Amino acid sequence: MTVSSEPTPTTGATSMRSHLCGALRATDVGSRVTVCGWVAKRREHGEHLAFIDLRDHTGIIQCVVPGTVDVRSEYVVAVEGLVRFRPDGTGNADLPTGEVEIGDCSVTILNAAEPPPFAVDDRVEVDEVIRLKHRFVDLRRPKMQANLRLRAAVNSSMRAAMDRQGFVEVETPLLWAPTPEGAREFAVPSRLHHGSCYVLPQSPQLAKQLLMVAGVDRYYQVARCLRDEDLRADRQFEFSQLDVEASFVSQEDILAFVSEAVVDAAEAATGDRPGPIPRMTWAEAMDRYGTDKPDIRFAMELIDLTAVFAGTGFRAFDAPCVKAIVLEGGATATRSRLDALTDRAKALGAKGLAWFRVAEGEGGVTGVDSPVAKFLSDEEQAGLVTATGAHAGDLILVVADEYRLTCHVLGALRLDLGGRPVSEGPFRYLWVVDFPMFDGVDDQGNPIAAHHPFTMPHEEDLDRLESDPASVRSQAYDLVLNGWELGSGSVRVHRADIQSRIFSVLGITDEEAASRFGFLLGAFRFGAPPHAGFAVGLDRLVAIFAGEDNIREVIAFPKTQSGWDPMTDAPKPLSPAALRDLGLQLLPKLS
Ligand code: ASP
Repeated sequence: MTVSSEPTPTTGATSMRSHLCGALRATDVGSRVTVCGWVAKRREHGEHLAFIDLRDHTGIIQCVVPGTVDVRSEYVVAVEGLVRFRPDGTGNADLPTGEVEIGDCSVTILNAAEPPPFAVDDRVEVDEVIRLKHRFVDLRRPKMQANLRLRAAVNSSMRAAMDRQGFVEVETPLLWAPTPEGAREFAVPSRLHHGSCYVLPQSPQLAKQLLMVAGVDRYYQVARCLRDEDLRADRQFEFSQLDVEASFVSQEDILAFVSEAVVDAAEAATGDRPGPIPRMTWAEAMDRYGTDKPDIRFAMELIDLTAVFAGTGFRAFDAPCVKAIVLEGGATATRSRLDALTDRAKALGAKGLAWFRVAEGEGGVTGVDSPVAKFLSDEEQAGLVTATGAHAGDLILVVADEYRLTCHVLGALRLDLGGRPVSEGPFRYLWVVDFPMFDGVDDQGNPIAAHHPFTMPHEEDLDRLESDPASVRSQAYDLVLNGWELGSGSVRVHRADIQSRIFSVLGITDEEAASRFGFLLGAFRFGAPPHAGFAVGLDRLVAIFAGEDNIREVIAFPKTQSGWDPMTDAPKPLSPAALRDLGLQLLPKLS
């Protein structure tokens, strides 16, 4: 995670400066230069000498001024002088410019500045709200400058990869209509059509499909998407994605196009080019990791014990699915630690958590120590140890329940016990393919589309669409990095007959389909090519490359966790006149 405020490849020269602060080196000794920037530090040496550390986005250069100079921290100045070696013994090995300084300087104040609300220094911890309120100062910090530039490097390498593969960037509207992707949307009241709203796109999904009908063939966009959902470390209201759609393609083509862009971006950001991205089916991911976004940097895989406990007399293990994880060396866990793990499992939805300390004795494993051991036969106890491959001193954690719940609970415990921060290397990418077509049911008992209703089922599963929807796989795929979902996509339905079967399974009536996305279905009647697409979340990708565990750190002007912008104080009430213009009348505030 390299990239940094390396000087731009150009010299940075303008009509006001000849060089960039961070670019000066021993090879510049003897040159007369003018640099511009912010005063990072000022020290006086008696009455005859002043030192200014001058900062721009490329770094810091020491400037030596004869006499005194009336500048303070964060003043904006231009400094003109002669580059020379620093006197012996005064070099600064921590600074790339540390061998040299600008001597004999004359200083022009371009603008005075009030004392900054906090020091522009990566080592200083500053309260989040203060940072965001003065984001323009916060962004001057070297780490934040590096993050912004890293983001630009990732964007531009992705754009280049898409251009090279024959994709064309098309901008789609921000004022748009609802998209059926399940997230809550932001509405924009219309001034010209009182009572009606535009919707800010949660993604350009329908627009990009229309572009395929329009014959664009290969579309991409670094697209801004908006979703009105609770904010978290990996979620802001607004985010950017590399949005992709192509015609006359299969899943294989899309995976190849997107892999190329992601691998290029990784190389641009980290200097290392990842190898081919491995693939796993959704079913395998659930079986082995208990999640559809497995962090494959570590093992601690889920082990299936359903066969070991088939026909068990122990009621708690008499369940459709019994699985375990093994914590190596975990047998030393105290009783209170084990109680805490049990509470966590219950909070995740399990009825309980059975733990087994694998007991040590001469010649290896002698048995299991657990409050529930007495309910298990000797064969079951031996089967538990053999199937898990546990060794003396290990801890086995077992959950028995419905398949999905068992996977979910153990998958979460696995991360609690073995997980690492997402941005910690190595970077392990994974394609997860063959997602189920539907995920759960709504309050009407209708299946819910796992991706979106325009996703194509697997050809082999099509005949079970109505009779056994839960078993139908879709041609949908996700890209995962270190346990974070980086993006998803699918092959789309382009045939009206299949689309209307899917709508009817979802419980969407013809009238409803016509009113919600009639424009798309209508367009499909005019010649829709087979098409498929994907979207890669840029904020998450850049955050991981930047070594940040929160995407706020790679967004210039993010919101706080509560969706507030301390700098502009948005969201703000509208004036009565603006409300009138929009035809709006506010209800009293809900308390
Ligand atoms: N529209 C989807 C999303 O934003 C991506 C896709 O299916 O292309 O997640």
